[in-house]
Amino acid sequence: MFINRIVSVYLRFFFFGFAIWMVAFYFLFSTPITAVTPQDLPPLKAYPLPETLAQWQDPRNSGDYFDEIEVQDVGYLIWSHFPIKVYVESSDNDESRSRQWVKTVVDAIWEWNIYLPLQVVDNPEVADIKIFKKRPPLTPGKLRARSAETRYQLDRDENGILSHNFVIWLSPMQVGKYLPAAARHEFGHALGIWGHSPEKTDVMYYSQVAEPPPISSRDVNTLKKIYLQTTRIGSKFPFSSDN
Ligand SMILES: [Zn+2]
Repeated sequence: MFINRIVSVYLRFFFFGFAIWMVAFYFLFSTPITAVTPQDLPPLKAYPLPETLAQWQDPRNSGDYFDEIEVQDVGYLIWSHFPIKVYVESSDNDESRSRQWVKTVVDAIWEWNIYLPLQVVDNPEVADIKIFKKRPPLTPGKLRARSAETRYQLDRDENGILSHNFVIWLSPMQVGKYLPAAARHEFGHALGIWGHSPEKTDVMYYSQVAEPPPISSRDVNTLKKIYLQTTRIGSKFPFSSDN
């Protein structure tokens, strides 16, 4: 009897302790919940289509993959100031190899310039999108870094306006035709295509393919549809003081 009681008390404490550990573990490793709620954010707003996209026509009606695009709390990840400023950096010691890498990447992303105006800048501090020759950072819970990755960050600028900027990491392991393919694809994310196409013939197909395609009509149709949506980015926070 006495032993049974000790065992039962022990088990009770054991499970209690275990539960506390589980809760602690959950809070330690779950994604932090941001304090910003949609009510605190600027209102949703639609911008007129940039002229370059307004001019785009697809007589063959190739369709789009707009349904695959994720909407964020801030709405669609739309740019409203053009040209979009891009900074490209290679940390290579060999200067000519470094220059070649930057050229390959700039040439690849420049294919988007027909649809949204871009400008390459020398100063990373003024850039909207920064591209680095670097292995993407490890994500908690994932054992292997990806070969290319794009992340965005939200900011409140000095005028109390919600702004966003992107960082793209392209692994030094990406060579040959895969480097421009990865640059073209990741840059599509940074222009606001925050999702993937289910079709191999689109730049935004979710996986790397043996013969990387150029920007397709479906890619541009999707981009155009995204730029017809609303966003909180580019607008002023409510009750914001300008100090
Ligand atoms: Zn992707």
